[in-house]
Amino acid sequence: MDKKNLEIEIPQPWRIKRYYFYAFITLLIIILPWIQINESYLFLLSFDNLKLHFFFVEFDMQELYLLPFLIMVVFLGIFGMTVMGGRVFCGWVCPQTIFRVIYRDLIETKLLKLRKRIKNKQLEPDMSLMENKVKKTIAVLIWIVLSFIASSNLVWYFIPPVDYFEYLKNPMDHIIIFGTVLSMALFLIYDIIFLQEDYCIYVCPYSRVQSVLYDDHTIMALYNTNRGGHIYDEHKVKQFTSQEDIQAKEPHAECTACESCVTVCPTHIDIRKGLQLECINCLECVDACTTVMGKLGKPSLVTWSSNHEIIDQKGKTKYFRPTILAYIFLLVGLIIGMGYIGSNKEHMLLNVNKENRLYSVKKESNGKIHIDNAYEFLLQNTKNKEMKFFFEVILPKDINGKIEIVKPKKAFTVVPHIKKKKIVVLRTYDTLVSDDRHDTFIPITIKAYAIGHENEIVVFRKSTFTYPRSDIIKAKQ
Ligand code: SF4
Ligand code: SF4
Repeated sequence: MDKKNLEIEIPQPWRIKRYYFYAFITLLIIILPWIQINESYLFLLSFDNLKLHFFFVEFDMQELYLLPFLIMVVFLGIFGMTVMGGRVFCGWVCPQTIFRVIYRDLIETKLLKLRKRIKNKQLEPDMSLMENKVKKTIAVLIWIVLSFIASSNLVWYFIPPVDYFEYLKNPMDHIIIFGTVLSMALFLIYDIIFLQEDYCIYVCPYSRVQSVLYDDHTIMALYNTNRGGHIYDEHKVKQFTSQEDIQAKEPHAECTACESCVTVCPTHIDIRKGLQLECINCLECVDACTTVMGKLGKPSLVTWSSNHEIIDQKGKTKYFRPTILAYIFLLVGLIIGMGYIGSNKEHMLLNVNKENRLYSVKKESNGKIHIDNAYEFLLQNTKNKEMKFFFEVILPKDINGKIEIVKPKKAFTVVPHIKKKKIVVLRTYDTLVSDDRHDTFIPITIKAYAIGHENEIVVFRKSTFTYPRSDIIKAKQ
């Protein structure tokens, strides 16, 4: 049969789809720290101001109850992703993989032609050649520049980019920031140029936990032993090196032993050996075998599928199984919880503490009796500019009378981020209750607000106003 007629249509390689996704993620990571509305960022964990900016809402350090939720969302998201798609994070999102693709495939192979082919990642360039030495030097220099950009980009999630560039004018005044950038850049240079995929295999803790999260329906790069033949025995020892040898034992075996799936693997493993910790799910081996088998008019022997479907041949992979639904349920719950907390966030902090002395009763020169209660207010302006604050006292509906604020007499200024202590004295001239036997603790609500922002920057706190026994008041009259 004509070879051309045998070929089947080869789908777009996963590699190309991954490149598009990498471009999207990289752009997103670079742009994200710049996005701000009215001085509030989409995401910023500000070390300068000790604040978390999340979806344009600012949270003070005392309000970092949101951070554990964020961390839980990230971890649950990665775990859920692993149960569903194996080490899909490593292949599609992890900066290590993206940086290695940029350095090895884009700079060394495509740009400088130091490596011959993207499809053979195991063939190292001949470094005895002068031309290759020059190319390697250029590749390293390009990567050094990119490492500093990447490290700076990471720091922008903690120091706003505008401030970062301002600080850059006097780097010696900001030695911790630029020391951090330098250390991270040096690590990236060592990691990407020298450590390479050994980081994924030996250093990254995620590779250790991922295998315990897998189940029979987890999708991953899988070699179909039923169609391709058993290249390795149960002890993972290689049995065959040619198709003839394989077919001598398994006549129907389709693997051509071309090893395209092996040479393309960035972590230098043979997918035909079965699931291995080193596999980062990049699907390069799937693309390689798709091309080889496509030319023979057959589907790929290596596919992105599950044990249940490919090895055990028990039917289609179940994506929405109880474990996945539990992860989705937990994640949605956490995100709703975060949204709820974020929308109920208070824009100032206020603690109201009643002073130890319960009250004071005094007779004024005009014969009027007043009752005072004193409080200590601890207030923090969580906005970035100075604001004036004042209070109101709200009494329960069933209490007739009025409580006024005698100290402070007028609104006072609070500078941003500094806790301000204020002694507040509340006074009443009215007979709020009449009880001969006990003092009465009248529940009150303190409304504190920023002048000019009464609807936006306002908090309510519960406290009590202690009203004396009737005989104590009578004794003063
Ligand atoms: S076996 Fe290698 S090429 Fe295949 S997905 Fe895993 S890491 Fe990538
Ligand atoms: S690319 Fe496919 S045919 Fe070639 S060795 Fe790998 S599994 Fe076998």
